[in-house]
Amino acid sequence: MLNLSKPKKGIKKNMVYDQHMHSEFSGDSKADPEVMIKKAKELNLPGITFTDHLDWDYFKEPGLFDLDYSAYIRKVHELQKEHNSKTFKINLGIELGLQEHLLVRHKHFFQMVDFDFVIGSIHVVNHVDPYFDDYYKDRDVLRSYVDYFDAVLKNIETFSDFDSLGHLDYIKRYVMRHFGPEVGAINESEHKEAIDAILQFLVKNDKALEVNTGAFRHGLTEPNPSYSIINRYKELGGKLITIGADAHTPEYVGDHFEDVCDHLRELGFAEYAVYVNRKPVMHIL
Ligand SMILES: [Zn+2]
Ligand SMILES: [Zn+2]
Repeated sequence: MLNLSKPKKGIKKNMVYDQHMHSEFSGDSKADPEVMIKKAKELNLPGITFTDHLDWDYFKEPGLFDLDYSAYIRKVHELQKEHNSKTFKINLGIELGLQEHLLVRHKHFFQMVDFDFVIGSIHVVNHVDPYFDDYYKDRDVLRSYVDYFDAVLKNIETFSDFDSLGHLDYIKRYVMRHFGPEVGAINESEHKEAIDAILQFLVKNDKALEVNTGAFRHGLTEPNPSYSIINRYKELGGKLITIGADAHTPEYVGDHFEDVCDHLRELGFAEYAVYVNRKPVMHIL
């Protein structure tokens, strides 16, 4: 039997790669990538993956998340040359905002450029981002969640050339902000079928589930998705998890990794995946 008991006091736990990180190449970050690297090294992380945003056709602010991918790729390659060592590694990733109508454009894009890691994230539902109040004009709490999970499933079924599904239940950050923390809280049992369908799709297609600790800076007490959803992925046969803090500023690099990794070990995950050249390499958690 696998011994998953916690390491004894004084024995250093494994630090993990932070595989969700933004820099000034993202429309919503001003962070110098060098500063993000410096912070990751201070934390003794074994490596990071830059995953700057590409969300074409972002209706609210057109062009805001149109990544200058040539400049971005060039910069990350330079940083790799400068910083990669035996103890620290930088990977080139991207957080791709999925929308069904962008299928052909996304397919062409990945024929053109190579990444180590692609996070597929759903940031908009029928052109509206749940971050904004417009999303709740005609939706109550239940409908807000139902429509989001529907959009996630439809999008990943439409375009599945991603490696890890980003922040699956992150909409609860914004539903709770809009309706208040109690009224807006998710009742996962109401969405069991929808969530199961998403997780089953991931397992069947060898896709990872991202554990996103950006949740904590939005006032949540668990990562996105919740531990119960992560556990359900495992129950359904899921083995691939990636871990990322979704930092847009250096202070959040590796945020909450220690306690989240403890929880993941308790759930029975002994390994996590680091994607290199679009392939998962398993590392001890
Ligand atoms: Zn995102
Ligand atoms: Zn992100």
